Amino acid sequence: MIIHKALFAGLVVIALLVCSGLSFAQQTPGPGAKPATVMPDVIQVPAAAQPSEHFDADAATEAYLAQIPASARSRSDAYFEGGYWLILWDFLYGVAIYLLLLYLGWSAAMRNFSERLTRFKPLQTFIYWAEFMAVTTILGAPLALYEGFYRERQYGLATQTLVPWLGDQLIILLVNLLLGGGIAMALFGVVRRLPRTWWIWGAGVSIVFFIFSVMIAPVFIFPLLNKYTVLDDPKITQPILSLARANGIPAQKVYMMDASRQTTRMSANVSGYGQTMRITLNDNLLRRGSPEEIQSVMGHEMGHYVLHHIAKDILYFSVVIVIFFAFLFWSLERGIARWGERWKIRGVGDTAIVPLVFLLGTLLGFVYTPFFNTHIRTNEHEADRYGLNASRQPDGFAQAAIHLGEYRKMSPGPVEEWIFFDHPSGRNRIYDAMRWKAENLQLFTPKSGH
Ligand SMILES: [Zn+2]
Repeated sequence: MIIHKALFAGLVVIALLVCSGLSFAQQTPGPGAKPATVMPDVIQVPAAAQPSEHFDADAATEAYLAQIPASARSRSDAYFEGGYWLILWDFLYGVAIYLLLLYLGWSAAMRNFSERLTRFKPLQTFIYWAEFMAVTTILGAPLALYEGFYRERQYGLATQTLVPWLGDQLIILLVNLLLGGGIAMALFGVVRRLPRTWWIWGAGVSIVFFIFSVMIAPVFIFPLLNKYTVLDDPKITQPILSLARANGIPAQKVYMMDASRQTTRMSANVSGYGQTMRITLNDNLLRRGSPEEIQSVMGHEMGHYVLHHIAKDILYFSVVIVIFFAFLFWSLERGIARWGERWKIRGVGDTAIVPLVFLLGTLLGFVYTPFFNTHIRTNEHEADRYGLNASRQPDGFAQAAIHLGEYRKMSPGPVEEWIFFDHPSGRNRIYDAMRWKAENLQLFTPKSGH
């Protein structure tokens, strides 16, 4: 009964938000109109970055940064710095939702409901999971709508109107329902059978699921949201595939995705593992990037590939998963001893404990933020340097750093970069490129006789 009331209240909130969303959706440019991009589309190599005897990496970096209009910089700074606060709000909002589910007895009511529907334990777990997804999605909708939709439009980064955006969210929800439901059933099975050692086996099961998800994502999950096609323009693919061959990458194809369906952001990535590993560039990069810029970005992606970053990430996150399960093992028993009766949770194998697990996960994730970011940023920095050596396009890379500056602050302080940046800042990336150029000026000096 309580849950039905909550569902109803949630639906009312969503309906209100949909109405307000539609009203501002109409003010935005229709399809075909130029998206509100704020960084210059064509970036010239500034005089101070031209090859000369007095080439100076610092001066060249400043000259590149000077090409960014002040309005574009303040907009990007505001967007990115707002993201710092969102980390905090996401954390507090999430914790509030989980505490609500526990203290109001909703989690126990959801468990009771699943037990009335079936006597089959794994199915009870799945039903509980479905209820949990529904309730947390509804309660989380206001912040999710602001963060994922309204704010992206405010900063001119989104290209979707509300209905297609909601459609995407529904797909993501269904994927989480199925994959999350699968792992929840497996984990509760482990906890019930192995009450003393579940944290070790649970971590093992989670790692297997994690690797499985990484492997299937490029083939079965990402295509649910975007269209992936094999790029067949030889003017673009030929230099990329040549770069791949030169670096011992057995790629025969380059993939393109229609990111412009959702966003104006330029990006590229390496995804998958083993047989599903592939390099993909998005259509925003293809449309707005110069050939030098595309090659520099592809060099960076090849760096991820050659340096085995996905395998290393799997290893890194496997360690994090083991730490998380050890933390759960230690804290869940204590949590139940303290609050179990009040929250009507019977034990660690009771699905009603899920909000507490998420609360602890959110807490650990929040504290880990700078370490996650630093792990990823370190890989990105390695890929940057690899990409410069491979593509030999420092100016293309500087251009890319400026374009990516539409959604990432260009010149943060060092502590700020350490805590919040999962990629090197634009300034540091340009400086890396210019330092590389300073040591390779002979590649850019016109040969005599020309
Ligand atoms: Zn990267």
